[in-house]
Order: sequence, then C-alpha cells, then structure tokens
Amino acid sequence: MALPIHPLVDHTIRKGAEDFTGGTLRCQCTRDPVEVRVDSQVLFNHACGCTKCWKPAGALFSVVGVVPRDRLTVTARAEKLEVVDDKAVIQRHACTACGAHLYGRIENQDHAFYGLDFIHTELSDDAGWDLPGFAAFVSSIIEAGTPPSALTEVRQTLRDKGLEPHDCLNPELMDLLAAHTAKAKGTFREA
Ligand SMILES: [Zn+2]
Ligand SMILES: [Zn+2]
Repeated sequence: MALPIHPLVDHTIRKGAEDFTGGTLRCQCTRDPVEVRVDSQVLFNHACGCTKCWKPAGALFSVVGVVPRDRLTVTARAEKLEVVDDKAVIQRHACTACGAHLYGRIENQDHAFYGLDFIHTELSDDAGWDLPGFAAFVSSIIEAGTPPSALTEVRQTLRDKGLEPHDCLNPELMDLLAAHTAKAKGTFREA
C-alpha cells in the first residue's frame, strides 16, 4: 500500500482519548511559531480531498475537523496570520511564513456551520485527538492533479483505512446542511 492518503491516516493507529479536552496547535515554523489553544476535542474529523483545505507535503488529502469557535484562542504570534482567501465561505487563517493553516472560520451567521472553526490536529503534539472518521470530496483530488484512473485505488485504500469515501460531505453533514436550507425556506418538517 503506497498511496499517501495523509500521515495521520497512513501511520497513526491510536484512537482519540475519552477524557481529552484539547491541546495546542503550532504552525510549521521552527522559530517563533504561531500558537493556537483549543479547549475542545475535535468533532467530525475527516479526510478532505478539496483543493482549499491545507495538506501536508505529499499527502493526497487534508485531515480537518471542527471545534466550537469560542473554544479556540490564538495565544502566540497572531501577527503572522493572514486570511488566505477572504471571498471563501471558510476564512482560512494561515501563517504567512510557513503556509500552514491554523484555523478556518465561517463569518456568515446564516451558514449551517456558523460557530464552528476548522482545524488540522496534526499541528498539535498533544495525544488524544480523535482521528478522521470518513473521507469527503474524494473526487476533488483530480482537480489537484491526481489522474482519474487512480481513484478506484484511492477509494479502496480509504475503505481499508476505515474511512468511507464520499464525493461531497458524509450523509449526516449533508442532511444537516439541507435541513438548514429547508428551515431558511420554510419547508422544514420535523417528521
Ligand atoms: Zn476541504
Ligand atoms: Zn509558520
């Protein structure tokens, strides 16, 4: 098995710890790294194949999870952070020196995921973060240069790693998004 999905998926076996309450993220600068304190376990952690999420060198996927935004604080070198694309739904705050994305934030209060920040737990040395539970936007890795002919093997590798591959988000999150839209349109029915 040679496909480099992501270091956390390729090499890590340990599961998240039950009593884990968060940790510190650091960018990849060897001197004066940006530091972000997260006082929460990560929710909905998943592998993502989209071209916007930050990936470590050589990985086909990013691993991205969410935490409540009021549990995330930039604790050092905030001046090194800049938003990658201020037109994007998720404002990804990246280190201007090393390029690592420290957190992504949704500023649109009408968005279904407003209140959640997106983080990459591999930037933390703390053990106990939950590992990714599924893979999203798998077909999008073609946009980043993976040949379409490789996708069968990529999807099989993901399944072998216990990450069900989806070409959008997983059904649970897609249902959340659709329910949010239905509520906004007045068509939502509870049962
Ligand atoms: Zn993504
Ligand atoms: Zn940096």
